Amino acid sequence: MTDIVVVGSLNVDVVVPLPELPAAGQTVLGSADHWRAGGGKGANQAVAAARLGRQVAMVGAVGDDAEGEWLTGLLAAEGVRTEAVLRATRPTGQAIVLVTADGDSTIAVSSGANMWLSSAHLTPYRELIRTARALLVQQEVSAEVVAEAVAAAGGLVVLNPAPARPVDVATLARVDVLVPNRGELAALTGSPTVPGDADQLAALARSLGTRGPVVVTLGADGALVVTDERQWLLPAQPVEAVDATGAGDTFCAALADALLDGASIDDAARWAIRVAAVTVTRPGAMAAVPRRDEVLIAG
Ligand code: ATP
Repeated sequence: MTDIVVVGSLNVDVVVPLPELPAAGQTVLGSADHWRAGGGKGANQAVAAARLGRQVAMVGAVGDDAEGEWLTGLLAAEGVRTEAVLRATRPTGQAIVLVTADGDSTIAVSSGANMWLSSAHLTPYRELIRTARALLVQQEVSAEVVAEAVAAAGGLVVLNPAPARPVDVATLARVDVLVPNRGELAALTGSPTVPGDADQLAALARSLGTRGPVVVTLGADGALVVTDERQWLLPAQPVEAVDATGAGDTFCAALADALLDGASIDDAARWAIRVAAVTVTRPGAMAAVPRRDEVLIAG
């Protein structure tokens, strides 16, 4: 049986290390080294779950091009099932990832095939989505695809509303665990400001009407878990940050992994914090995601 079905994006990441992130209109010269890596929030979360030992199937789209072939092969090599990765009449999605030595990043994404995917494309895979123990979905695919996937789900639904975009009420009502960062939570609730205060974040989270907890990721500050009754802050694992790209994706996959084992939301968030901390200590996104044994060794 499939543990986790991921409905989401697949991108080729072109990673460019820079001494500092450029301001608008500025050019910053990096070293000669840049590299190509598998990416996209969907693909990252699929690989993260697979490296934790889960049976994972990916639903998404790549271009009918060499990059699409390469990316699908990359996922297959990680043990992710790719029969529902469709070939689009658009190029494979691309992300230009600018990273600094102290772990800051700025990302520009060209969606390509990811936004070609329509809810109609999901029809043959409704049964796959229904029977999986968990659905992991993000917002680098269209809102109609997100809504269709969530409506088809028969198991645990984890929505990572990234990048920030409003989500319809019916979809939110079917979400078991919502995992936004601060900015995404503000965007979801229409808040004009991004609150830093835990009580304000919790009030926004509760206003959304999800049927389960909201776990707000706070970068190096850890995560805020919000239930109907209470909210509590879990500190991040102190690590030497190298590159925080993919930390959120790792967090979501690890959270789902622990919840499938029957963990409480508190224990699941603590596990996600441990797994994401390892990702932060390594360069890249997908490449940085640890296997379960590497997390256990890291402590
Ligand atoms: P991205 O979209 O770049 O993956 P995000 O904004 O969705 O990021 P973050 O909140 O930055 O996600 O990070 C997710 C989790 O990763 C945090 O809740 C935290 O547990 C861990 N994390 C992120 N940055 C650090 C850090 N510098 N040190 C330790 N843990 C970190």
